[in-house]
Amino acid sequence: RRQAFAAMRDLPPATRDGQRVTLMVNAGLRDDVAALDMTGADGIGLFRTEFQFLVSATLPQRERQQRLYREVLDAAGERPVIFRTVDIGGDKALPYLTHDDGEEENPAMGWRALRLALERDGLMKAQARALIEAAAGRTLFVMFPMVSEPWEFDEARALFEAQRAFLAGRNKRLPADIRYGAMLEVPALAEQLDLLLPRLDFLSIGTNDLTQFLFAADRANPKLAERYDWLSPSILRFIARIVGPARQAGVKLAVCGEMGGRPLEAMALIGLGIERLSITPAAVGPVKAMIRSLDQAELAIYLRELLAAPPRDMRGALSDWAERHGV
Ligand code: PEP
Ligand code: MG
Repeated sequence: RRQAFAAMRDLPPATRDGQRVTLMVNAGLRDDVAALDMTGADGIGLFRTEFQFLVSATLPQRERQQRLYREVLDAAGERPVIFRTVDIGGDKALPYLTHDDGEEENPAMGWRALRLALERDGLMKAQARALIEAAAGRTLFVMFPMVSEPWEFDEARALFEAQRAFLAGRNKRLPADIRYGAMLEVPALAEQLDLLLPRLDFLSIGTNDLTQFLFAADRANPKLAERYDWLSPSILRFIARIVGPARQAGVKLAVCGEMGGRPLEAMALIGLGIERLSITPAAVGPVKAMIRSLDQAELAIYLRELLAAPPRDMRGALSDWAERHGV
């Protein structure tokens, strides 16, 4: 099987009815970039920049951040890399970055990611400068985590733009372009998405956090692992409602949570109209094999029926359909 996946490396992830899916990988360390060549993926759809912070005993200085970003971009070559600004705080607490009010009772819903970065803006400014300098001459893709309201995105973007202007004033070589995106992982954002979409270049659904917030079920608590299923009607309907508006606004929509790395879940996502996935490298082979055996249009029709009147066992229904259709 492993060999069969390896042989597929250079085959396009396209469905039987000709829909080309953009298949990217999630990464976080310099060496993860090797996964691009190993899997034949289209790019890095989520580079978790906090990894460098988490493995470091002290706050990584701007030059060190910049070196990592440049190495990653050099290794990726022509393939795009979406850098997510730091998602630290909460359960990814850093000893050198402490909260004034001490321990948090609910760190996942706490002072983390963009919330922390907009407040400790020295951290964000240094990262913005490191990214902008590292991407000189190329297109820089920046993505903000845990956006809950449109103004947070605006503020983060403005912070980057100020750094771009600052560096332009110092005659530094700049990126050819900077594209800004948000993660959709806080359900509240979906209620204001129409306001945010016109300002976005891309949007990526983070199903790890999204599902824990949608179901009020801690993603790290094994006792709750049976509480919800990624194939539940609530999750699939939630995602289905994002697809149309994103397409109309011309915003590239991806899914970057672990859900997309499971073939049956990825099948459902593609059936909902998702055309871009960023997944763990080991999942590229199995997910590509699924895509190449799928008739997207046929599944889309079936899914629409299924979601209008969902059976209790959505997983069972979808896996039966897959089996019947040779997926
Ligand atoms: C997510 O929440 O789905 C996600 C991709 O981000 P992380 O797993 O890093 O929180
Ligand atoms: Mg997340």
